[in-house]
Amino acid sequence: MTENSPAAQPCSPAQPYSTPAVLDPHRARYAARTAGMTASEIRALFSVASRPEVVSLAGGMPNLAALPLQSLAEQTARIIEEDGLTALQYASAHGSPLLREQICDVTALEGIAAHPDDVVVTVGSQMGLDLVTRLFCDPGDVVVAEGPSYVGALGSFTAYQARVVHVAMDGHGLVPEALRAALRQAADAGQRVKLLYTIPNFHNPAGVTLAVGRRAEILEICRAYDVLVVEDNPYGLLGFDGQTYPALRSLDPDNVVYLGSFSKTFASGLRVGWVLAPPGVREKLVLATESATLCPPTLNQAIVSRYLATHDWQSRIESFRETYRERRDAMLSALERYLPQGCTWTTPDGGFYVWVTVPEGVDTKAMLPRAVAAQVAYASGTGFHTDGSGGRQMRLSYCHPEPDRIREGVRRLAGVLEAELAA
Ligand code: PMP
Repeated sequence: MTENSPAAQPCSPAQPYSTPAVLDPHRARYAARTAGMTASEIRALFSVASRPEVVSLAGGMPNLAALPLQSLAEQTARIIEEDGLTALQYASAHGSPLLREQICDVTALEGIAAHPDDVVVTVGSQMGLDLVTRLFCDPGDVVVAEGPSYVGALGSFTAYQARVVHVAMDGHGLVPEALRAALRQAADAGQRVKLLYTIPNFHNPAGVTLAVGRRAEILEICRAYDVLVVEDNPYGLLGFDGQTYPALRSLDPDNVVYLGSFSKTFASGLRVGWVLAPPGVREKLVLATESATLCPPTLNQAIVSRYLATHDWQSRIESFRETYRERRDAMLSALERYLPQGCTWTTPDGGFYVWVTVPEGVDTKAMLPRAVAAQVAYASGTGFHTDGSGGRQMRLSYCHPEPDRIREGVRRLAGVLEAELAA
């Protein structure tokens, strides 16, 4: 279950985190790697945050209201009628050839000149993360990631027993000097850094974008320290002014593995994403897919293909952007209006998230049950780090609630913060 999954079961606000009542009789049997597999804070939160009276600023569920459902239903029926014996059958682990061609058109929007052979279709980019980590990380290997970083990626790294070293970001994304220092320090300590994991555009959870002027420098640093770059870019086409940024993959295709997804630009539930990788890595990804899922879902790939071929998907993305821009504006003005003095936040130019820093003395993780009791939920900053930091931060998502709910949620949150500061 990821941060985007719906709630399993409701539970009381006084006790937001449920623990199994009975000791697991299989506990002595599990592989050592399962020790790092703990329920994310966000997952635990979903059980309470999904109650209708709670304004949830916690999750990252895309707003699907603009999807043409009737037409998708008709197209899906037609796929099954016209081509059902293929669309319902096993297929290549590499992914549908037609969809791989279409993905090259999508990634061209960010300056990537990809060949369909470079594309490996995955079950969402989350599976891409899992496969890439499986290919590269032995226990104890280091993955360098922004601090904060995407909770699902941190889950993959820890599941493979990699060690995450966080590197500082500022308002312009990952700080090259901090990256260089972290890689130098790891090299001096004799540690093997395998990957830089980075979300350059409209970062989850930080809401910032890597300055174009930093991109080449970061790639050069990774080359110098022999570190492979994993570029995770699910939000790249959701810039509010329509601007796209040159993908890292477009600047150094031989040393960048790129993860893409239709989850935020089409339909997250179809679970269709992709990896663009250099030839050797691609071959291994196909083999790893075979052992993980045999092949990505054939029908879902056909639905995405048909959608891209028959709909004006770029205009649809434009309408998603407009919705998210309006919600971002609602959140930023509510933060300005309601939050107590001493709070600061990022100003996202795209994507789903604002990252808030609260005054000293407030612990966002400890405060969460009180916020939920006041009927507002957020994601505490600690869930986005593996080193226990983030206690004075929180991620607020504006992607799902309507603007009025966002304003009401921020007003409630401000009340909780005022009470913490007064205590
Ligand atoms: N990477 C990032 C940065 C994300 O925010 C998400 C989803 N929240 C994912 C990967 C996973 O997306 P998908 O639905 O494609 O698996």
